[in-house]
Amino acid sequence: MKYDIIIIGAGINGCAIAREASKLGKRVAVIDKQTIGSGASSRSSRLIHGGLRYLEHGDFALVKEALYDRSRLIAAYPDLVVLRPFTLPVYAGVGRPWWIIKAGLYLYDLFSRFIAPHHVMSMEIFTSSFPALKTKGLRKIFTYYDAKTNDLLLTQTVAQEAQELGTVFFENTTLHEIKHHENTFELLCGDRHLETPILINATGPWIDEINHRFNLPSRYKISKISGIHIVIDGLLTPEPVFLQTDHHRIFFIIPENKANQTVIGTTERRETSETDEVHINEEDINYLLTHTNHFLTTPLKREDVIDSYIGVRPLIESKKSMVKTSREYQLDLHDFGQTQLLHVFGGKLTTHSSLAQKAINLLPLYKNKVNI
Ligand SMILES: Cc1cc2nc3c(=O)[nH]c(=O)nc-3n(C[C@H](O)[C@H](O)[C@H](O)COP(=O)(O)OP(=O)(O)OC[C@H]3O[C@@H](n4cnc5c(N)ncnc54)[C@H](O)[C@@H]3O)c2cc1C
Repeated sequence: MKYDIIIIGAGINGCAIAREASKLGKRVAVIDKQTIGSGASSRSSRLIHGGLRYLEHGDFALVKEALYDRSRLIAAYPDLVVLRPFTLPVYAGVGRPWWIIKAGLYLYDLFSRFIAPHHVMSMEIFTSSFPALKTKGLRKIFTYYDAKTNDLLLTQTVAQEAQELGTVFFENTTLHEIKHHENTFELLCGDRHLETPILINATGPWIDEINHRFNLPSRYKISKISGIHIVIDGLLTPEPVFLQTDHHRIFFIIPENKANQTVIGTTERRETSETDEVHINEEDINYLLTHTNHFLTTPLKREDVIDSYIGVRPLIESKKSMVKTSREYQLDLHDFGQTQLLHVFGGKLTTHSSLAQKAINLLPLYKNKVNI
């Protein structure tokens, strides 16, 4: 079968690019070794957010773009991407001082055009609304706004939109070989032979493994940073809470109201094994329990954890500077004249539509017409 574009990876980024290409009337196929959204796109913190903490690294462009995408997603999927008040209590001697947080929140408001500006919560409201959280040492309580989603459902929705526009999905499909000819890429997947002049590698945390295995050229590499979330029965808090550890790491307590569960996460661990070999580590569960208990009036016990899940973030490393990782993305285009190879390095759930638009703009979609 011949396609205008073949995308490897049916995560949020692969599905979003497929949707944009299908809008242009292109014949698009997406192949995934598992199912739609089964990778990092269903193992996230489920936040559609600008990323308040990226401000302190000076990642202003990333925060601005993500806040812009956030507002577009809230408008497009009002039932799936919902703005919620996030409570940010600041305790004496833990994490950043309140005035630094206040400055960050002001910038966040500015970048989101004061759509839902932050405010200070009174101690009385905090005590009555968040009885599970300690008040000892509390210096200031802020409320700011960000959006919550269901990551898997969002990815499946984008995939469905692509499908309705004509994209073909091959799930549970193993890729055996990629042959690069002068005017086409030939992909052997099971007993299928697929051909395309434009190949897109959107395999998220698997990208380096694919590039290595199929000998594809690339300008970047990723750092694989895993994150776990633990799930507790019942609602610990009525709204999401942003907490800081004494080492300036942050984590969230996120109520999943419909499921009557609370999700707590996340951790950050650099992984050196293959992505499929990354597993939940008891140390990470204890890390989350210890830090959460620091703020709780009644501590959680190990047996309160009814579930946990792990995902791997594909954070980009420039080959020139291995030490610097970034949550931004890079679109790495290799133009061979009659064929093009595009790698998607990095990218958040939140920024999938901007990323997809930029990817499409890079491709010579009008030059390569498939004759069937
Ligand atoms: C712990 C954690 C928390 C996060 N929290 C947030 C958050 O709150 N908000 C936010 O915006 N972002 C968040 N992110 C980031 C976000 O989830 C990811 O960056 C994003 O989902 C990546 O999407 P993707 O499509 O690039 O990759 P993926 O979703 O991983 O998709 C890649 C796909 O490629 C497929 N694949 C792999 N190998 C092959 C192969 N050989 N052949 C065919 N298919 C293959 C996989 O099966 C997978 O479906 C978080 C990530 C993690 C891990």
